Amino acid sequence: MATLRAGVVGHPIAHSLSPAIHTAALRAAGIDGAYEAFDVTAEAFGAFIARCRSEGVRGLNVTVPHKTAAFESAERRSAEAQATGAVNALVFDDAAVGHNTDVVGVRRALDDLGVDVPGSRALVLGAGGAGRAAAWVLGRGGATVEIANRTRSRAEATEWPVVDWDDVPVALGRADLLVNATSVGLGTDESPVDADMLRAAAAARLKTVLDVVYGPGETELVRLSRAAGLRAADGLSMLVYQAAEAFRLFFGIEAPLGVMFEAARTSGTPSERTS
Ligand code: NAP
Repeated sequence: MATLRAGVVGHPIAHSLSPAIHTAALRAAGIDGAYEAFDVTAEAFGAFIARCRSEGVRGLNVTVPHKTAAFESAERRSAEAQATGAVNALVFDDAAVGHNTDVVGVRRALDDLGVDVPGSRALVLGAGGAGRAAAWVLGRGGATVEIANRTRSRAEATEWPVVDWDDVPVALGRADLLVNATSVGLGTDESPVDADMLRAAAAARLKTVLDVVYGPGETELVRLSRAAGLRAADGLSMLVYQAAEAFRLFFGIEAPLGVMFEAARTSGTPSERTS
C-alpha cells in the first residue's frame, strides 16, 4: 500500500509544530504515512490544492493566509465549519471537505480546565477563526456568550452579543470565563487585558482563562491570570487536541494523544500558529 500523505499549508510555515506532532503520531500508530509542511503563497493556493488531490494527498491543515480560500475551495463542509464560517482542515475524498478542528480543540481544552460550559458566562476576545470557534463551542454548549473584537464589525458578523473593545474591562466583571482568541501575545509579552483588570474581575466572578495563544513558556495573559489567582491555560492543549482531530480525519484512526503532547512540548519555539 502507498504511503499515506498529509500536511499543513501556509505562508510562512517554517515554525509550524504540526509536522513534529503528526510525524510522532504516525510513527507511534505504526502507520506508513508522511506529514509535510507546504509553504505556498496565496496566488499558488488553488493550483496546489489541485495537485494535492491528483497526487492522492489525504488531507491538509490550513493556516494563514489560506483560511478564507480553504473555506471557499471546500465542496462540502462539516456542520462546525459551516456554522463558524472557518475551515482549518481539508480532507480529500471524492470531494474536498472542509472541517474546523479548532472547535474540538477548544472544547477539549475547556474540559481540561474544568469549565462547566452550560452554566458559564463567557467573554470571548477575538472574532477571527479561533474566536468564532470558541464562541460557537460555548454558545452551543449552553453558556452565555459575549464577544469583543478590535474591529467591531467582525464581531457583529457573528450571532453573539457584541461588547465594544473599549468596554472589555466592564464585560470582564460579569464573566466567569475569559477566552483570548486574538493573536495578542503571539511571540510577544503582551496581554489583551492587564493585571488590574484581571484582579478586579477575579474579585467579581472570573474563575478561568483560556488563552488560545501558546508559548514558549507561559503567555503573559496566563502569567497575569495565575498571579490573580485564576485557573489558566495557554493554547498548547487546544493545538494538540485540534491536531488529534485532524489526524483522525486524515488517517481514520484515533490519535495517540500522549505522543502528540510530548512532541508539542519538546519541539522548539513556535512563533506561528500551526493548525
Ligand atoms: P485571525 O482570524 O487572523 O484573527 C486574528 C484576531 O486577532 C482578530 O480578532 C484580530 O482583530 C485580533 N488581533 C490581532 N492583533 C490585535 C491587536 N493588536 N489587538 C487586538 N486584537 C488583535 O486568526 P485566528 O485564526 O483566529 O487566530 C487567532 C490567534 O489564535 C492566533 O494567535 C493563533 O495563533 C491562535 N490560534 C491558536 C490555536 C491553537 O490550537 N492553540 C488555534 C487557532 C488559532 P481584528 O479583527 O481587529 O484584526
